[in-house]
Amino acid sequence: MTQVQMAPRKRIVLVAHDAQKDTLVRWCRQHRSTLAEHELFATGTTAQRVSAALEQAVHPFLSGPMGGDQQIGAQIAEGCLDILVFFWDPMSQMPHDPDIKALLRIAAVWNIPVACNAASADFLISSPLIAAPYQRDTLDYTAYVASRQQP
Ligand code: PGA
Repeated sequence: MTQVQMAPRKRIVLVAHDAQKDTLVRWCRQHRSTLAEHELFATGTTAQRVSAALEQAVHPFLSGPMGGDQQIGAQIAEGCLDILVFFWDPMSQMPHDPDIKALLRIAAVWNIPVACNAASADFLISSPLIAAPYQRDTLDYTAYVASRQQP
């Protein structure tokens, strides 16, 4: 195992599919004061909606179908994001379903907290850990990478 240090001020990334955007905006408004303590990121359209609702800066990635999910996955792998709030639509197929699956996988690989609905997000944002330093365990892939090197 290796450890990744998470600072008290978390880098939170928000993604909502179209059918879930109103739910995410409502959730953001409910937690406005807590979210103001953290740095926010989001996919393109979600970033616009959340930024307007909270009057808080939100760093935008590309829109999800244009590669935003993949950008977020890369940032998680690089250790640049701490928490994923991803209100994906469980009732529709998406053109970027493979990207969605990849994002959820990479979040699991790097052991970052993930909330996929409002109830989970309520629990996550209400945790005392949201404003505390936290040591996140991640798998140590050194042996795996070494075992794949050519002799
Ligand atoms: P959007 O992207 O925030 O630009 O709508 C999210 C998505 O639909 O994956």
